[in-house]
Amino acid sequence: MTGPDTLKSARRIIVKIGSALLVDPETGAVHRKWLESLAEDLARFRARGQEMIIVSSGAIAVGRRHLGLASGQLRLEESQAAAATGMVRLAHAYQEVLAHHDLTVAQVLVTLDDSENRRRYINARNTLETLVKLGAVPLINENDTVATDEIRLGDNDRLAARVASMISADALILLSHVDGLYDSDPTENDGAQHVPEVRGALTDQLTAMAGTSMSRDGTGGMVTKLDAARIAMSAGVRMAIVDGTALHPLKNLEEGARCTWFIPDANPKTARKRWIASALKPAGTIVVDDGALNALKSGKSLLPAGVTDVDGEFDRGDAVVVKTTDGREVARGISAYSADDARRIMGNKTSEIEPILGYRGRDEMVHRDDLVLS
Ligand code: GLU
Repeated sequence: MTGPDTLKSARRIIVKIGSALLVDPETGAVHRKWLESLAEDLARFRARGQEMIIVSSGAIAVGRRHLGLASGQLRLEESQAAAATGMVRLAHAYQEVLAHHDLTVAQVLVTLDDSENRRRYINARNTLETLVKLGAVPLINENDTVATDEIRLGDNDRLAARVASMISADALILLSHVDGLYDSDPTENDGAQHVPEVRGALTDQLTAMAGTSMSRDGTGGMVTKLDAARIAMSAGVRMAIVDGTALHPLKNLEEGARCTWFIPDANPKTARKRWIASALKPAGTIVVDDGALNALKSGKSLLPAGVTDVDGEFDRGDAVVVKTTDGREVARGISAYSADDARRIMGNKTSEIEPILGYRGRDEMVHRDDLVLS
């Protein structure tokens, strides 16, 4: 599949927008015409059924002028203050341009913890899933105002890749001011060769290329982009680095603009299943009856009705082993309920979950997307 086809066939796409594309560094004004052209592109993708998610930088660049902060390096607390005033303006600009296409914007500010702490990860993922299902376009940025140095990711390339992995996006598009990866620094070497596609995995050679000659600009440099590629590829997400400076950056990409595509050998579903089967340490066991076993074998989810026993202590989102009543392991998966709640609802119909627990959780105890047969 070629790059433009990848874009057309992707169901869920994350578009990351760098500050330099969006904000005039002198005045701190948003490039309105460019943003309008991006909104048109986003609306066209949405209209053909694709879920679009924006990760946008630019809060600090917009905000600093409004607070009268001088140009040059900001202290951490100054950039936090700048982000607070810039984000509201940035969100407003997105809201206005997308409203012309009847699209609703939903601001989501995340910190590193939201992708590392299991509980927060699940919450962030569920919220984003719900937003896209309801037809909104999430607008994501790091919560710079509260994220201090130790808990800060600091760049939106890696943030976007983590979000892409978290919500199993099919494609991640990094709109930047470079048109991809070169085998040496193109600003210093006229003979530098553009790399149109990287397949499978990132080699040390590729990483070294970015590590030496192309890393001068801290955030948004090639190093963070390759880190993003690594995160995306291991989650089965295809990623493109493309020059987004011209109007209609997504349309241009679709029409074959020069870029680098990073194509992993798995898709998000298979990558997630691989991770469940191999990387997770099970914290407990769910025992199922024959009816449930047959359902699992035919590709269905595990419902509470077919569960006869629950062993161990685990939380919602922990890995569990699924066994038959005679102790045979038949699957591994991620539990949608804690062990305590699972014990309370086991053997009951899905419609009984809410009366028993007092809240409405998922219908399934282990969803089929979170389940791998042994
Ligand atoms: N979160 C920062 C902002 O919105 C940008 C981080 C980056 O440059 O990638 O200003």
